[in-house]
Amino acid sequence: MDCIFCKIMKGEAPADIYYEDDHAIAFLDANPANVGHTLVIPKKHFETIDKMNKIELDKLSEAILKISKGIMTIADGMNIIQNNKEVAGQAVPHVHFHLVPRYKGDGYSLGWKREKKITKKENNEFLKKLKEVKI
Ligand code: AMP
Ligand code: ZN
Repeated sequence: MDCIFCKIMKGEAPADIYYEDDHAIAFLDANPANVGHTLVIPKKHFETIDKMNKIELDKLSEAILKISKGIMTIADGMNIIQNNKEVAGQAVPHVHFHLVPRYKGDGYSLGWKREKKITKKENNEFLKKLKEVKI
């Protein structure tokens, strides 16, 4: 499979991997938003988070938690971002969590405008659909 993150995981493509366990690796993002911007990925290839099962996500969470503790001792804060599908900004189709250290005065603010007027009807339709799928 031609997946850049699978290649990094197998050592077939370069990356600054700084954490590894049986289920996950973490490495620095090649195009970082801030110093220490880290990607945590499962070793197994899943395109999106919904393809994972609970155990697989639990294992990944262990790595995310460890790295979060490290980042939070160094930085002033942190954003965790996880994109699924192109429409949501996913460029690499292998599940990854962005752990972005935040530093006072770094000048970022998250870009959710919250200007959409969502009606009660739209919310109810969404909740009705959600009830119909098995989650
Ligand atoms: P996303 O838009 O959520 O799919 O994020 C993909 C991230 O992967 C981007 O922040 C890229 O900078 C990063 N990225 C892509 N290729 C590499 C690579 N070879 N090594 C490290 N980071 C990468
Ligand atoms: Zn992959």
